[in-house]
Amino acid sequence: MTITEQNYWLTTAEIPQTDRSQPVPESVDVAVLGAGFTGLSAARALAKRGATVAVLESETIGWGASSRNGGMVLTGLKLGVNKLVSMYGHERTQQMYAASLASIDCVEQIVREENIACDFARCGHLEVACKQKHFDDYARQAGVIARGFNHQVRVVPRHELPAEIGSSIYYGGMVDEVSAGLNPARYVAGLGCAAMRAGAAIFEHARVQGIERFSRNGASEFRVTTSRGSLWARNVFVGTSGYTGAATPALRKKIIPIGSYIITTEVLPDALARELSPRNRMIYDSKNYLYYYRLTPDRRMLFGGRAAFSPETADTIRKSAEILRRGMIDVYPQLRDVKVEYVWGGTLDFAFDIMPHAGQIDGIYFAVGYAGHGVAMATWQGQKMAEMIAGDKPENPFVGIPFPGAPLGLYNGRPWFLPFAGAWYKFLDWVS
Ligand SMILES: Cc1cc2nc3c(=O)[nH]c(=O)nc-3n(C[C@H](O)[C@H](O)[C@H](O)COP(=O)(O)OP(=O)(O)OC[C@H]3O[C@@H](n4cnc5c(N)ncnc54)[C@H](O)[C@@H]3O)c2cc1C
Repeated sequence: MTITEQNYWLTTAEIPQTDRSQPVPESVDVAVLGAGFTGLSAARALAKRGATVAVLESETIGWGASSRNGGMVLTGLKLGVNKLVSMYGHERTQQMYAASLASIDCVEQIVREENIACDFARCGHLEVACKQKHFDDYARQAGVIARGFNHQVRVVPRHELPAEIGSSIYYGGMVDEVSAGLNPARYVAGLGCAAMRAGAAIFEHARVQGIERFSRNGASEFRVTTSRGSLWARNVFVGTSGYTGAATPALRKKIIPIGSYIITTEVLPDALARELSPRNRMIYDSKNYLYYYRLTPDRRMLFGGRAAFSPETADTIRKSAEILRRGMIDVYPQLRDVKVEYVWGGTLDFAFDIMPHAGQIDGIYFAVGYAGHGVAMATWQGQKMAEMIAGDKPENPFVGIPFPGAPLGLYNGRPWFLPFAGAWYKFLDWVS
């Protein structure tokens, strides 16, 4: 059987269709860039408050990372709590950690309220240690999380790991029962329908080409030019994540687009699936250049990683299939003769400090920088930023923290340094 270079999740979902002959409106309260979790969650919340909203999407609903990811709805941030405390102090880290927990509740609530059939389940996540010193750090982290953030994670010593994972290569693990899993393509499709039901209009194949600020009728407004025409917007919200481009140059300079790739196997026999992941966890390892994996609801092994650092192209996707298959067999030799059926890639958004950021830049609202932890956080940020745009003052610990650009300003949005970064992370995994 040949491998299909296609996103497996999309074969299971029905992405809503919009009327592509409809012209963009003359003016709206809020123009939202991007129809992924961030943009759609914001659009839904804004429309529910009575705002007129146009979601402008250069491709189709959910086309970006939101339909392509592992569907892991994770607690915490990309950076560990010790690092966060050293960067922001205890109180701000506490707020950030609480936000990460709230973001999972937020997804669960939307799924319930909007009746989204996306296999959302609180199955928990398992982080596995690739080295003894990584495992030793789990105990320290679990202590900080319990004492400082009133949340329990469970450290799993090596001899107890077989109850969690059918692999013998790890030094131990750490389980968080609060994390969840879902089918991301079905979730983003459901979020799109929910935004439209609330009254937001979605315009696909409407790439935003420019945003200019003018004074109009005595107020400041934005003229948003798209490939389907232009419109006036009182506010603009950007949720373009790893696909942030030339239309928002100030933001583009602060975001590094990084490729991530996934394979899925054929459907596995029940017993084998149970052996690989007895508790059906969302699993990832402790490396910088990490692997993440899980069973899909129909019992395929979904295995992802940074097989290439650069954003997806036909070439990197093809090469990733074999690199990831070898990685999967290192973890699970039981899968040696199992067929890989799908391979695809997508682009993540990393800020230079590997943190989520939200707020305003040049008067334009934005939320970006999820660094592979965006399923829950993007949904939450969309909702919080909608509240902010509507004039509330929601608590959002990611607003107002320093948002660094590249050192010495050596970056214009074209990530020429990614091959070096890839080598650097491999080196770090070797020495740390
Ligand atoms: C392979 C992969 C695996 C991942 N796994 C996980 C995981 O398991 N758990 C997790 O929490 N996170 C994961 N992530 C990250 C998560 O998917 C993202 O953080 C999240 O989807 C970001 O959502 P978003 O709406 O901000 O951006 P996106 O979903 O990327 O949407 C941005 C949209 O903006 C549009 N756009 C860009 N420029 C313009 C423009 N000028 N005009 C109009 N539209 C524009 C794009 O077409 C795109 O559709 C993964 C990401 C990838 C790529």
